[in-house]
Amino acid sequence: MSNNSTTSISSIYGPVDSWRLGKSLGIDLIMDTSTCSFNCTYCQLGFIQKITNERKIFIPTKKVIEDFKVSNWQNSDVITISGSGEPTLAINIGEVIKEIKNITSSKIPIAILTNGTLLNDQNVRADILNADVISVKLDATNDKTLKEINRPANGIDHALILLGIKKLKDDIIKIYDGRPLLQIQIMFMPQNKNQIEELAKLLNEIRPDEVALNTPTRPYPSGWDLITRGAHGEDAKKIKFPTKPLKRLTHEEAKEIENKLKALTELKILSVYKS
Ligand code: SF4
Repeated sequence: MSNNSTTSISSIYGPVDSWRLGKSLGIDLIMDTSTCSFNCTYCQLGFIQKITNERKIFIPTKKVIEDFKVSNWQNSDVITISGSGEPTLAINIGEVIKEIKNITSSKIPIAILTNGTLLNDQNVRADILNADVISVKLDATNDKTLKEINRPANGIDHALILLGIKKLKDDIIKIYDGRPLLQIQIMFMPQNKNQIEELAKLLNEIRPDEVALNTPTRPYPSGWDLITRGAHGEDAKKIKFPTKPLKRLTHEEAKEIENKLKALTELKILSVYKS
């Protein structure tokens, strides 16, 4: 799908219910084809069509703001920048955040869901630091697991990602006086569910404000269409491509991991199973 054909489709979707954030209005800054610097084996968008770490403008800010103004934003708890791929690839993300804060008078928090692969770039960090919540994915404890679960674009390795997250944390402390809130989101898969000590070590190095413990609750679609960006609950049934269920943690496994992470890090842990 080209940008020309997306002009009639809104870059805003939802609100959808998010277990991490509440009633969440989605902003999709990509919307072209699914585009990401990862190609996670559990991605709700299916196999990523364009795997890249190059930033550009996908949807002009003017269109995003026009779509936002006619959306149901007043009825959301949070505005979430996520959508059809990695949102920090959109070079206008900082501009969009500023304009939306102006429209809402900063009354509704803005959250960004990112895979953290671009955080070494100072411009990317500066672009997103005006958000209220930054939720960074960290599933892997080493390059092997990174390749198995997240299948990154060329040139991205585990050390680079970890360094970027630490730089973001430093910026939050030094420049922004403790804001925005830093959340680390971990998707537990068969490949990492036995790496709790290693994950706890990384969390202790980063010291986020909270950790979101997740496991794949949405099916993996064999193709991409725009519905997949907000495919929760009933919407997930509208995906026109065949889907396959993924192995998820049982409630018992999730509780055990939650308890272990709490004991090893003393961090606030939010669980997808809302224990
Ligand atoms: S980082 Fe997010 S959008 Fe990118 S492949 Fe992984 S789950 Fe999908």
